[in-house]
Amino acid sequence: MNYQETFSSIHSVLSTLDNTGQTAQYIPELAAVNPQKFGVSLYTIKGELYNFGNAQEKFSIQSIVKVLSLAMAYSRQGAQIWERVGVEPSGTPFNSLVQLEYEQGIPRNPFINAGAIVVSDILVSILQNPEKDFLEFIHEIIGDKSIQYNSSIAESEKSCAYRNLALVHLMKSFGNIENDIDRVMDFYFNMCSICMTTDEVAKVFSMLANKGISPITNTEILSSSSSKRINAIMQTCGFYDESGEFAYRVGLPGKSGVGGGIVAVHPGQYSIAVWSPKLNAKGNSLIGSKFLEAFTTAINASIF
Ligand code: GLU
Repeated sequence: MNYQETFSSIHSVLSTLDNTGQTAQYIPELAAVNPQKFGVSLYTIKGELYNFGNAQEKFSIQSIVKVLSLAMAYSRQGAQIWERVGVEPSGTPFNSLVQLEYEQGIPRNPFINAGAIVVSDILVSILQNPEKDFLEFIHEIIGDKSIQYNSSIAESEKSCAYRNLALVHLMKSFGNIENDIDRVMDFYFNMCSICMTTDEVAKVFSMLANKGISPITNTEILSSSSSKRINAIMQTCGFYDESGEFAYRVGLPGKSGVGGGIVAVHPGQYSIAVWSPKLNAKGNSLIGSKFLEAFTTAINASIF
């Protein structure tokens, strides 16, 4: 299959559309990103890489990292983590406080902000050096040490993190945060600030297309059962209150981030990462979502 030609023809159709979205306005460093950027990369479990556009330019992966932090916590703690965070779609925005009050500080799933903050707290409790150990976990998947945190983006988010601080305080009041709030949030902001290219995102996520084994380093990162479960949570919860829409239109498990990235996984085949910084009203990349819909339609293959 020549994916490159498919990428180029979908991109030329999409570039005639009005990209009405906006870059993430609540994080100054992200608001300032060039909205015209576009990159896409696909990495197969056999190790073939196809890409198009700005596929070698680093961008802030933001909530895409929540899949990796969950993978690390789940691989270390197993099903115990489900006592503190659920696996149900929330049907609410990524930073919503509403359900948390009703549900006594237990977030619906690990991909909304509240759930990812609980996962950060779990990692702060179990890792000796959370920042260092987490990067090493990613480096082990991709076999490359160039992926790093971006301190300007982390600081920029921290400077106006009003809603995330409200979430963590509410959960602490319910006893669902063990560590010092500032420590947990610094780790959370650092994780969200990680920058990767679409080539790198596609490579890192290819382990979820390959039953938890990195096709690059041949290391078992997750058991096959854990990999299946994480794909299932991406399918049902990866796009906040647009998760149903993404499943309907694209037909693959995936995860978005407010940096404009989206990753999707076709188990047994490939993972694909796309980056276009302008977001729709639900906080998901507008062109990125349309691109993936056009892609699975063009190749006539999804998990359904
Ligand atoms: N760091 C962002 C936040 O906590 C992540 C949100 C996202 O990418 O969806 O608001």
